[in-house]
Amino acid sequence: MKKSTDTAGLKKIWKKKDSEVVIAVIESPDKTDQFILRQNEFNSLAPQKWLLGETIECYLRAMLNVKGLGKRIYILNHYSAGVIVFGERSAMANHSLPKLNFDNYDGVIGFVNVSNNHWKFLYLNKLNKNVFVIDPLGQAEDQESGVAAKRFCQFFRMRQNRYQKTDWVDVKWKGATINHSIQKDGNNCGVFVMKMATDVVEAFPVVPQEIKIATSQKDLKDLRITMAKTILQCSVFSETDHCSSCGQENPTGQKGNTKWIECTKCRRWYHPTCIAMSDEDWDKEKEEVTTMWNCDFC
Ligand SMILES: [Zn+2]
Ligand SMILES: [Zn+2]
Repeated sequence: MKKSTDTAGLKKIWKKKDSEVVIAVIESPDKTDQFILRQNEFNSLAPQKWLLGETIECYLRAMLNVKGLGKRIYILNHYSAGVIVFGERSAMANHSLPKLNFDNYDGVIGFVNVSNNHWKFLYLNKLNKNVFVIDPLGQAEDQESGVAAKRFCQFFRMRQNRYQKTDWVDVKWKGATINHSIQKDGNNCGVFVMKMATDVVEAFPVVPQEIKIATSQKDLKDLRITMAKTILQCSVFSETDHCSSCGQENPTGQKGNTKWIECTKCRRWYHPTCIAMSDEDWDKEKEEVTTMWNCDFC
């Protein structure tokens, strides 16, 4: 099982040009669900880059697996979070999460996108009925948290009306704020959101008094490296045992009828169908022992 979880390994990934190659697979705590992170998404964790939503969510899942053991916290995806907090009310019904039972949880963490260029942290604490919308830039948090609290009340009532779901429908949500360090640049909002989520999960169910984030470029770079390592360490994906396109396991040693092709440079494995390689091309690659087939990553 090969994984590059050291700093040199991840810097090597960040140097490569963007590809769809799978970098990490994070399992849900009950192992029924997998979250796949691809290289173009993972690369947005490199210093100075603006973070993609998939990468933030992947980190939250990995971080919760490590720090949230036994804590009943649900991660709300940022599409649903955005619609519930800021979207058209009519669109809320498309994000009603009818299979989910919020009574299985004591808190929700998530994040919302503003104008396609800024992330804010979202946090619901069921035990004190507080909703927090925390802006790394520290703007209008009182007001936005209050609006978000009302929107979540509407959200849970909508679920009751549509699906007779009564979970969290009687909670009287109130907006609240947490003191925190202020973002001083234009591209680290995602890192702030991930650090805020980490501190909230560590303190849960207590709400932290203050979230301190060191804001020098060096500190933020180190934080990104730590977060990238958390993702890689939590990942069940192995470059040599899983298909780097679909993330599924390569049944090593008992390949049976499954077709595989290995990159001669990085040793990553692929299903030919996953990389749109025809049967004829695959046969040709297999026959020519000297063929140097290289993948998208290489
Ligand atoms: Zn595959
Ligand atoms: Zn390769």
